[in-house]
Amino acid sequence: MNPERVAGKLGLSRERLEALHKTVIKRSSWPEPRLWRFDKPASGVEAGTVIFENGEIVHGYPKIRRAMMLGPALNTHFSGNVAVEEKMNGYNVRIVSYHGDLLALTRGGFICPFSTEVARKNLHPRIFEDNPDLVLCGEMVGPDNPYVPKRIYQVKSIEFFLFDLSHKNSKRLMGVARTHELAKEYGIRTAPLLGEFQADRAYPQIVEIVRRLGRAGREGVIIKDSENRVGPVKYTTSESNCSDLQFAFRYYNDNALDFFVSRAVREGFQSVEWGEGPEEFKARALRLGESIIGPLSETIRNKMAGEQIVQQVQIRVRSIQTARDFEQHLRRSGTRAIFDIPEPDGDEYLIHIIKPVMSTNDKTEALVKGQFW
Ligand code: ATP
Ligand code: MG
Repeated sequence: MNPERVAGKLGLSRERLEALHKTVIKRSSWPEPRLWRFDKPASGVEAGTVIFENGEIVHGYPKIRRAMMLGPALNTHFSGNVAVEEKMNGYNVRIVSYHGDLLALTRGGFICPFSTEVARKNLHPRIFEDNPDLVLCGEMVGPDNPYVPKRIYQVKSIEFFLFDLSHKNSKRLMGVARTHELAKEYGIRTAPLLGEFQADRAYPQIVEIVRRLGRAGREGVIIKDSENRVGPVKYTTSESNCSDLQFAFRYYNDNALDFFVSRAVREGFQSVEWGEGPEEFKARALRLGESIIGPLSETIRNKMAGEQIVQQVQIRVRSIQTARDFEQHLRRSGTRAIFDIPEPDGDEYLIHIIKPVMSTNDKTEALVKGQFW
């Protein structure tokens, strides 16, 4: 690797790159290939940016800004046409080819052994034979998802859904049109494209879409400039905000306060912007209230019945080695997880995983015994 060239490609001086190597750039030597990753954003370089041993760079996937008051946000941010895509609820991966092997990188810039297996199952090698520098940005979605298990999609286990493209050594994302074109050419599943509107007339149409997605339990939308001139904007359904709360309150002592507050505040803005009448308002209040009190009561009752408070997820793998590697991957990213014995299932193995939620477990145990908050 030539440090001068790498610094140049990142838009940094060589001295700055060297200084960052002592702070935010971390080395990852497992699984192969070895790489360096930006643990945090620095000097205009996104967190999760990866530098491979051969000097190739894969930029981190940028943050997407959230609209709270949708109408005004659309008007101030966009002009011309916008494309509305479904926001899929899973976890972000970037898929690249390195010396001919497909690799899946997490948001943080680690190679994830499990996502890599899924990517190799889902994607035709011809994509990268034809475009060796391509970076596929997308969401891993489905019930056998070790981070965000969801049954709301037409996915049996877990699948990759493409939502943008980039190239190695380039920060630029290619945008909606090119993404869906390439997906069609190579038969890649994409985040559904739900419509294209003139920005200044898009608001009522997007609200309709968001209401419909909400009824289906979906997460929301990502609104993108059709010409890819400005960055995308995200906006979520009430049902998804509440389902996040329902999850977070089940493990109330293991989540950051901001996670709870941000979801509640979104509900306030949406309720006001949608000009809700008394009935709609009541329905929202009930949904929001139930998503708080429901999981809390369940956690307390379970503890009173002597149960351990844990989170259960599952994965399905072709090779047991992938599961072992994934266990190692979770350990090195600081997540505690207990892997059950693999159960053969067709040509795959189903593996149940238990993630202990120590803080909620211990806190609830103490409180039900009469300790003070
Ligand atoms: P941030 O983008 O601020 O890092 P976050 O990590 O909290 O946000 P989300 O609130 O889920 O994540 O929103 C952004 C993420 O949405 C993207 O990183 C991507 O993984 C996911 N996503 C799902 N569907 C799409 C889509 N159609 N287009 C772009 N991103 C999508
Ligand atoms: Mg997400």
